[in-house]
Amino acid sequence: MKAPEDMRLRLSIAVAMCFVFSLTLGACARAKDTASNAEASTSASAAPVQTAADSSNSSADPTAVPSFNSARSMQYVKEIVAFGPRPIGSINHKKVEEYIQSHLKGDEVEDDSFTIDTSEGKFPVHNIIAKYPGTKDGIIVIASHYDTNYPLRNTAYIGANDGASSSALLLEIANQLRGKKRAGYSVWLLWDDAEEAIKLPWTDDNSVYGVRHLAQKWQGDGTAKKIKAFLLEDMIGDADLNIEHEQNSTPWLEDMIYQAATRVGYQSHFFARLIPMEDDHLPLMKLGVPSADLIDFDYGYDNVFWHTTQDTIDKLSPKSLQIVGTVTLETAQMLDKK
Ligand SMILES: [Zn+2]
Repeated sequence: MKAPEDMRLRLSIAVAMCFVFSLTLGACARAKDTASNAEASTSASAAPVQTAADSSNSSADPTAVPSFNSARSMQYVKEIVAFGPRPIGSINHKKVEEYIQSHLKGDEVEDDSFTIDTSEGKFPVHNIIAKYPGTKDGIIVIASHYDTNYPLRNTAYIGANDGASSSALLLEIANQLRGKKRAGYSVWLLWDDAEEAIKLPWTDDNSVYGVRHLAQKWQGDGTAKKIKAFLLEDMIGDADLNIEHEQNSTPWLEDMIYQAATRVGYQSHFFARLIPMEDDHLPLMKLGVPSADLIDFDYGYDNVFWHTTQDTIDKLSPKSLQIVGTVTLETAQMLDKK
């Protein structure tokens, strides 16, 4: 994914201002404490909301706050990064495809395979879509790319946060959806491929190959009209989790995500900053499909770990996976009732 060119400058200024402020007043640390306290008190006071939701929730699982196994999803992150770098066209990429598919045995899975012709040559691309039926006519798509950055293919770059965290999140969401019909829309989990730019700089034409292909297909076969929301997960494992208020996303869907985060007591991790991102959601946005990018684009000081060999599992936290997983499932339940 890509942020606007002036993002780094603006980020640096914001961080520098906070640093100066904290030197003089120690306010930033206190502000963070206050946020944690607010989260704790909101969690406690969220109980009546959950009870109210319980009574109106007709899903097979009556629990208002969706369950999410953070330890198991973290184990999936470990197993994915253990394959090493997973750029398109590599043996490791093939191994991850097989790894994802091995977790979806017995599920309805669509393989969307094709070849792309790029400035760096031809590559096979493989989107994997697992479909879980619901009682309502319509589809919620939850997506994550699983390839690692191609220009970094000859380094030790393993994309623990960028690619692995969100792909692991979807594997755990699959566990939550499997074996029961949702009392709501169908959910399609999409592990999409070739998100990363094949060559720098990132352009609309040399990136997001997998989702661009699907958007065209879904427009042609009528699927796009049935998609109620496209929820994209990207870089969601950072232990210091701050999901962006993403400016290119659909405003009402962003509002709903924040409401969902508030209902489950995790809103202090959401929307502290408003920034536009170019990511896998844009091809769907262009078709008029309501879409949102759940992304934390402040990964280490000034996003310093992003697209470096420092993107390793020690920077991640199972708690962050739980926060994003729970809020995503809560958002899906809110969409069901919309
Ligand atoms: Zn990336």
